[in-house]
Parts: sequence; C-alpha cells; structure tokens
Amino acid sequence: MIVRGTLLSLAASESVKNAVTSAPGIGGVVTRFAAGESDDDAVRATSDLQDQGFAVTLDYLGEDTLDRAQADQTTGAYIRILARLADAGLTAGTEVSLKLSAVGQALPDDGAEISTDNAMAICAAAAEAGTTLTLDMEDHTTTDSTLGILRELRADFPQTGAVLQAYLYRTEADCRDLAHAGSRVRLCKGAYKEPPAVAFQDKADVDKAYVRCLKILMAGEGYPMIASHDPRLIDIAGALAVRHDRAKGTYEYQMLHGVRPDEQKRLAADGEKMRVYVPYGDDWWGYMVRRMAEKPANLALFLKSLSSTS
Ligand SMILES: Cc1cc2nc3c(=O)[nH]c(=O)nc-3n(C[C@H](O)[C@H](O)[C@H](O)COP(=O)(O)OP(=O)(O)OC[C@H]3O[C@@H](n4cnc5c(N)ncnc54)[C@H](O)[C@@H]3O)c2cc1C
Repeated sequence: MIVRGTLLSLAASESVKNAVTSAPGIGGVVTRFAAGESDDDAVRATSDLQDQGFAVTLDYLGEDTLDRAQADQTTGAYIRILARLADAGLTAGTEVSLKLSAVGQALPDDGAEISTDNAMAICAAAAEAGTTLTLDMEDHTTTDSTLGILRELRADFPQTGAVLQAYLYRTEADCRDLAHAGSRVRLCKGAYKEPPAVAFQDKADVDKAYVRCLKILMAGEGYPMIASHDPRLIDIAGALAVRHDRAKGTYEYQMLHGVRPDEQKRLAADGEKMRVYVPYGDDWWGYMVRRMAEKPANLALFLKSLSSTS
C-alpha cells in the first residue's frame, strides 16, 4: 500500500518524469504496455489485435495538460487516428478512450467548456468514422465534472461510454443512474491515489464494492464493460450474465494491453467480446506509473530496464 501511494504521488512529479522519460532505451519496457508512439504503430497494433479476434479501444497517451495548444493538439491526434482507422476498415471493432484532462479539463477558468468542445469534436469524428468514444475516469476531484460532460456528450452522441471506479463510495449510486438502456458503462476498480474520505482503501473492500456495482450493471438495461484482470471478478461476471440471461455480446470484458494476454485469448476463444485497451503516443509517464502501482513486478521490470541502459 505504501509503495502504491508513493508511486502514485510520483505520477505528478515533473522532475522525476523528465529524468526518467529521457533515459536511453527506456522504451523497451514501455512497449509491453503501449502500442508505440506513432499513428502507424497504433493502426498496426489495432489491426493485429482485430485479426486475433479482439475488439480494441485506443488511448492517445497524455493527461493533465495546462496548455491550451497541447489540448487542441491532442484533439487533433484523436480526429486523425479515427480517420486512419476508418480508412483501414477497422472502426467496426475499435473505439477510442479519452481522458478529459488531456483535452483541457484542468485549464483554469473555462477548462470544462474547452474540454467539452474538444470531446464533442472527437465524438463527431468517431460517429463519422462509424465508432464511439468512452470517457476515461480520472481522480475523484473530476468525477462530477466528467459525468456532467458525459451527459452533454450523450445528448448528441448517446452511445458515448462512461467509466465508473468501484473504489469510490459514490459509485454504487452512479451505477444505478447509468444502468439504463443504451448506456455503455466500463466498471474498473480505480487507479488513482484517493483519500479515505471518498474511497475504500482496503483491497478486499474495493473487490466487494466492485461486485455490488457489477450486480447493478448486469441486472440493468445498459451495456456493462467489465474492465478487470481479476480472475474472481471475471468468474462472477460470467455467473451474473447467466443469472440475468444475458447473451454473449450484450456485455464485454476489457483488459489492458500486455496484461494477462492468455486470459484475454481464453475469453475471446470462448466467444466472449474481449476488448483490449491500447495506449499509444510518447507521453506515457502517468500511465506507466499507474501500471507499476498495480503490480510491483512491473516496477522491478522498469528499474531493471533503467539500470541496464544507464
Ligand atoms: C480496459 C481498462 C480501462 C481502465 N480505465 C480506467 C479508468 O478510466 N480510470 C481508472 O481509474 N482506472 C482504469 N483502469 C485501471 C483499473 O482501475 C485498475 O487499476 C486495474 O485494472 C487493476 O485492477 P484489476 O481489476 O485488474 O485488479 P487487481 O486486483 O489490481 O489485479 C488482478 C490481477 O491482474 C493482474 N494485473 C492487474 N494489473 C496489472 C498490471 N498493471 N500489470 C500486470 N498484471 C496486472 C495481476 O495478476 C493481478 O493479481 C482501467 C482498466 C482496464 C482493464
């Protein structure tokens, strides 16, 4: 728990980020979790995964921007990749995931408006390309704003997906609100460092909360997206699908690129819809820190690659 907290605090440190991300050869460990840096890398990885029977959600790496030009650049990157996916005939099985903080949510004064406009432009590009967008969920200070922007996006693009984090006390209520027909909801445990005032701290409590939330979503009329690598939760999701008479494809499993790939293959081979979350781009620091916090072995891998390249 202490390692997790310390690591997640590092995610916000610009000086650590600059020192580590400029280390030579560090890209080796990053490529286990990300598709690469360029649009070509993203399209190639998407095509490979679709060939193997997976659906994909692409995430252009970056978050917490306080620079308007950077927010607009990220918006452009999403619009560009959606056109590339459409040209390559890949949008039937691929959507995009977006962090609102990457398109301006944290900008002072009018961050909410700027990020709404940018997300709206990406939703329009996704619809034009024949696919959808899911809004990632970031730390709890952004939850209300993100759910508010989701409502605005859904007014024009009702298929826009939401993410809810089981570790937040509020999430059972949010699941009830969002378990309606046409609503796509990705349920994850939650990856940020949150205080006891808003979130369960104990892993067992987070797991129990996940099950309560999953029960609401699987019993509801929406489209649940079960984002977890936890074998017990995956089994429980399967049992709930049977209990609620849900056919395969009326819900889906989601896992991160590079995490439990054999389990991803097993679920796809069983005929389940299995979507892989694929990040790409060069701004990988925050994403990688969260992956290390989830699994200490990833930290060891990372440190090894640093020491072998310095
Ligand atoms: C598709 C997807 C989208 C997500 N989107 C968001 C989001 O928008 N907001 C948010 O806060 N969080 C998001 N997350 C992250 C999530 O909140 C968890 O931090 C992460 O999934 C780990 O939780 P777990 O359910 O896999 O369970 P855990 O109990 O953490 O892990 C279960 C098992 O899975 C394996 N495992 C888990 N993580 C890793 C890893 N990083 N490397 C190697 N093995 C691992 C291990 O074997 C572990 O024992 C997302 C996760 C997924 C899969």
